[in-house]
Amino acid sequence: MKLQTFPIGTYGANCYVLTDEKSGETAVIDPAWLTDELKKAVDSAAFVKYIFLTHGHFDHICGVFDLHAYTGAPVAIHEADADCLFDEKKSHANESEYTFKPVHADILLNEGDVFSLGGSSITVMHTPGHTKGGVCFVCEPDRMIFSGDTLFRSTVGRTDFEGGSTREMAESIERLRHLDGDYDVYPGHSRSTTLQHERERNFFIRRLGRI
Ligand SMILES: [Zn+2]
Ligand SMILES: [Zn+2]
Repeated sequence: MKLQTFPIGTYGANCYVLTDEKSGETAVIDPAWLTDELKKAVDSAAFVKYIFLTHGHFDHICGVFDLHAYTGAPVAIHEADADCLFDEKKSHANESEYTFKPVHADILLNEGDVFSLGGSSITVMHTPGHTKGGVCFVCEPDRMIFSGDTLFRSTVGRTDFEGGSTREMAESIERLRHLDGDYDVYPGHSRSTTLQHERERNFFIRRLGRI
């Protein structure tokens, strides 16, 4: 699996372009906007199969309209965050300088949904806490997790936005912590990490472990 990372916009939200090299099937995760770099990456992909969204905040979704128009790929978001795609208050786009172009979801994600990308599978884990409809995408057998604003290197996502919940965040992090074995973790902002590194070093996770 080939992975390209593009931090986009004022908040540096990571847009990930995931390509199964054998088939050319590609998924784009969290396009903050359609930059020239991102355009080039999707141009070189044989087939953009999905636009996956980890959650509905503007710094992750403002490029969805343009990317969907450019590729025709279906837009997939958890149903609890689907309104963010056309509600600039719910996505907080109205508080930002980002250009918000309303769009509708083609696929409403639920816990346990599985999508194929070439020979790999991408499973949806519903991980609320940062938003009601926050999800992580778990890619196997590549052992990658795209964790959105749920799990970051050395920290976890904020829970003080509308729809956030510290209790739900704790439950979501607990589920991630208990996945079998190690994974590479690609968060919505900042550097990638591994699940094992976070189990050992992430204060929030270590505190959960003692409860
Ligand atoms: Zn967010
Ligand atoms: Zn974010």
